[in-house]
Amino acid sequence: MTTTPADSFTPEFTSAAVAEFRSVTQRFGDFTAVEGIDLTIGAGKLTTLLGPSGCGKTSSLRMLAGYARPSEGQIFIDGKDATRVPPEKRGLGMVFQSYALFPHMTVAENVGYGLKLRNVGRTERRAQVAQALEMVGLRHLADRKPRSLSGGQQQRVALARAITIRPTLLLLDEPLSNLDARLRVQMRSEIRRIQSETGLSVVLVTHDQDEALEMSDDIVVMNSGRIMQQGSPAEVFNAPANRFVAEFLGYENFLTSAEGRSLTVRPEHLMVASANTVTTAPEAPARSLILQGRVTHVAYRGVDTILTLAATDPSNEQVTMLAEIRGKEPGHHTPGDDVVLIAPAHRLVSLQSG
Ligand code: ATP
Repeated sequence: MTTTPADSFTPEFTSAAVAEFRSVTQRFGDFTAVEGIDLTIGAGKLTTLLGPSGCGKTSSLRMLAGYARPSEGQIFIDGKDATRVPPEKRGLGMVFQSYALFPHMTVAENVGYGLKLRNVGRTERRAQVAQALEMVGLRHLADRKPRSLSGGQQQRVALARAITIRPTLLLLDEPLSNLDARLRVQMRSEIRRIQSETGLSVVLVTHDQDEALEMSDDIVVMNSGRIMQQGSPAEVFNAPANRFVAEFLGYENFLTSAEGRSLTVRPEHLMVASANTVTTAPEAPARSLILQGRVTHVAYRGVDTILTLAATDPSNEQVTMLAEIRGKEPGHHTPGDDVVLIAPAHRLVSLQSG
């Protein structure tokens, strides 16, 4: 029988959740870094902790890894209370910002290190190392030393090393932040491919929303030690729960309805019509918001034009709105133009306060 790398790496699951945080708090003196979070990490999924610097992502990951103890609450891994289990007994693989490869060992020795520690025999080890290197596309570099590899290649070695031990859960802490922009984008799909081929459960920490949206099954947005929202990329992107999540995902326009509801609409969904043509402007569907405004700034960017607009919202507040418009020539809009802004009903997002 032939086995593909995917078959032989697929871990066995005992439940749909591979890990759980139950009311987990972490304090450092008077400071609360993580505040009473409940979090379920799905087996076989790539779950991303997303948030700005200092929101508690790394603290949460460190508690999951066992490098830090919660001040309160419990952490379950594979259905068992792991709160007091030391890191090396948790069955986790880890890749950090700095790859921490052993410089004196070859690529193959680095990748096989975890297996050697686990007393896996030489023949079996060689086979598993070859398979892991194949998966990350580095089999031809097996005998090289890490210093002769590019950043992206070193990152792949670190990834191969983490997956050879067939971890219950693979933790990735900002694994792409040391790579240049192009490689970072390339590695996103690479990691995603490996994750889906192996069926590994992965927790990724990042502050980059594009990375989170592209790579994740599940996104957990954090702010000030709390979870703001957990959902699929489309759920979080299309229906941000509150203003913080919306702003973090690039919503720019915040308004209050006549009834006092907080609303937002993305710049690319805001339609702009010239004030004197509005009677013939595309019909706005019922419940769309229509505002009078004036163009205050025009930034032509080639693929699109960003208009900054001053408008009055339905609650009579003065608001600044951004509209991203495609397919218009430079000069189509100029500062001082009176316009009508239309936020189509199905593009309006209601936000919870907080
Ligand atoms: P970054 O993206 O910058 O790593 P983060 O979201 O991962 O940020 P954490 O590293 O979890 O954030 O830190 C959360 C908060 O806890 C920060 O304000 C940080 O300064 C604080 N903190 C973290 N570790 C300690 C510590 N050992 N002692 C005191 N405060 C700490």
